[in-house]
Amino acid sequence: MNPFDLSGKVALVTGANTGIGQGIALALARAGADIAALARSEPGDTLDQVRAVGRRGVWIAAEFGRAAPASDIVSRVLAELGGLDILINNAGTIRRNDALDFTESEWDEVVDVNLKSAFFLAQQAARHWVAKGGGGKIINIASMLSFQGGIRVPSYTASKSGLLGITRGLANEWARHGINVNAIAPGYFATNNTDALRKDETRNRDILARIPAGRWGSPGDLGGAAVFLASSAADYVHGAVLPVDGGWLAR
Ligand code: NAP
Repeated sequence: MNPFDLSGKVALVTGANTGIGQGIALALARAGADIAALARSEPGDTLDQVRAVGRRGVWIAAEFGRAAPASDIVSRVLAELGGLDILINNAGTIRRNDALDFTESEWDEVVDVNLKSAFFLAQQAARHWVAKGGGGKIINIASMLSFQGGIRVPSYTASKSGLLGITRGLANEWARHGINVNAIAPGYFATNNTDALRKDETRNRDILARIPAGRWGSPGDLGGAAVFLASSAADYVHGAVLPVDGGWLAR
């Protein structure tokens, strides 16, 4: 038996149209899972690639914002794919500004998506799993800024530090239900989220110089960690965070 096999499992991946969410969705599909790709616009590229490896892929249309996520997201996944086993809380956003000038909307726009939506979607999934029995897996996409302060991104740092906090808190409450809540902390990955950093020559050079692996991560680099935490190989892993950072934190 392969402990990393996800055949017959259904994964809901938020922000699955691009970047890290797309990379994780494809890795889970290659390991055997069907994919509910939550995105605000149709994630055609992701769905094509999921179907190309022989898995089912459906679009769950939703946008996160001021209010908690729509209360029917999990029931739409159940209706479309007949089950839910894995939730990847990946959708996230960032605002960059000096802390002295940071606005209330720059704070709320980030914390509402990165932290509030992740919590209430986890709650929706966990309510389903507790009612049904049998457990499930939640993987929150944290950040180096779950450990460090960052520069000019105070709401992002608050949201990602908070996300690691609730990863541990929810693990404490839900482990007894067979629900594994864990986090992956990506280092510096080449996606839309880091476009501004990579275009800034000085920041780009400083970041690269600090990464022992000597390169930016690409979304495929996270696949193995996601498959592991989503699989039965991680059944006794609760409240953990797995950095996938090219060695950044070890530096
Ligand atoms: P990305 O390419 O910008 O992807 C972000 C995803 O979140 C997109 O699918 C985006 O949808 C979605 N999203 C943003 N705001 C949303 C909203 N209000 N409602 C619904 N969906 C929304 O960046 P990424 O790097 O792949 O980021 C994915 C996750 O990894 C984020 O949580 C990010 O904080 C985290 N992360 C990234 C890095 C890195 O170096 N790139 C490092 C650590 C952690 P649209 O395409 O429609 O905007």
